[in-house]
Amino acid sequence: MEQFDAVIIGAGAAGLFCAAQAGQAGCRVLVLDNGKKPGRKILMSGGGRCNFTNLYVEPAAYLSENPHFCKSALARYTQWDFIELVGKHGIAWHEKTLGQLFCDDSAQQIVDMLMAECEKGSVTLRLRTEVLSIERDDNGYTLQLNGAEVKTPKLVIATGGLSMPGLGATPFGYKVAEQFGLNVLPTRAGLVPFTLHKPLLEQLQTLSGVAVPSVVTAENGVTFRENILFTHRGLSGPAVLQISSYWQPGEWVSVNLLPDTDLSAFLNAQREAHPNQSLKNTLAMLLPKRLVECLQELKQIPDATLKQLNGRQQQALEETLQNWRVQPNGTEGYRTAEVTLGGVDTHALSSRTMEARNVPGLYFIGEVVDVTGWLGGYNFQWAWASAWACAQALAES
Ligand code: FAD
Repeated sequence: MEQFDAVIIGAGAAGLFCAAQAGQAGCRVLVLDNGKKPGRKILMSGGGRCNFTNLYVEPAAYLSENPHFCKSALARYTQWDFIELVGKHGIAWHEKTLGQLFCDDSAQQIVDMLMAECEKGSVTLRLRTEVLSIERDDNGYTLQLNGAEVKTPKLVIATGGLSMPGLGATPFGYKVAEQFGLNVLPTRAGLVPFTLHKPLLEQLQTLSGVAVPSVVTAENGVTFRENILFTHRGLSGPAVLQISSYWQPGEWVSVNLLPDTDLSAFLNAQREAHPNQSLKNTLAMLLPKRLVECLQELKQIPDATLKQLNGRQQQALEETLQNWRVQPNGTEGYRTAEVTLGGVDTHALSSRTMEARNVPGLYFIGEVVDVTGWLGGYNFQWAWASAWACAQALAES
């Protein structure tokens, strides 16, 4: 039977980073993963360029039943620390928008960096490995693997959430939490496109591929200003992905397709200058032509000239374009979601070490924990920060 100072289950962002840090601090670390490759989600992330952190990371960008929990870890290992590490490895990066940092070249560089850091810490990595059972006694944890048995006083669960089963996501982490009596909060897909009811979807079918800079507001008042994207299944784009994390089934969202325009002032000025201009052509100055045509076909935009447009019609038009209320019929679910909301209840964990309060030696890091970030590098920063906090604790003991 093999013995390690720490065993980490999950060779994703959090698991690899934690292993590297603990290994470099002198721990003998084993990382296990059921996949063929480490860091599969990292490789897929940010369209293949990995949005590895965000310049504006702050606790308010995270959703959790316990919004204070993430503060300590995020403050102790910041975006600047990770940027410094990326710089040390000579990885060139750029800010795309809203503080989102991407590799210039490829997400593979982040995986290579994590692997190099693991090597520096003499970490043992075993892929294609299933953990069949975990038992705990006074000496620590015994793991039955396919073909081996390992023992460790410290067990770290870094198996992520349920999103994208195609990339190896499993409920393993939640099951371990339950096995040891920790509460697991209900999970649901986050950062995920909305699907629409059939009549509306059919009406909007011609808009597939059209993007509009918008402000989207959830029923609870949370607002995001970014693009929305019409798709053949419904609505996507960064503003929709963001708001999906705040949306509950049955709720509405409001979309302002012209957030920077005083529409009535614009229409009044245009009417004065070009009274015989069609409303359609006037609105095409502000919005994609395909969208205007579709809304006209749906009789949301009257087939009229500016001088024919009456006050009631103008008001209705403003409502349609600046407070379009949509009731999604659901989301695309874990199949396409970037993250999983909910998970291991943070009330059961120490925010300084990520250790289960009532189960000495058992730690949970990364997405398996009930901490979910906005789109834009926030989720990786949580993975790095929670992994770092845990690694410090592994090294201390
Ligand atoms: P993961 O990275 O998911 O790693 C979990 C690991 O555990 C995996 O290697 C998995 O194989 C392994 N595992 C699971 N079950 C078992 C088991 N039973 N036994 C053994 N091993 C197991 N976030 C950002 O901040 N920026 C982005 O650009 C970004 N892009 C994304 C793009 C996509 C397509 C997706 C799906 C997510 C994206 N995210 C992004 C979110 C981000 O990838 C996750 O939040 C992050 O990877 C979580 O890290 P983690 O280590 O907790 O889990």
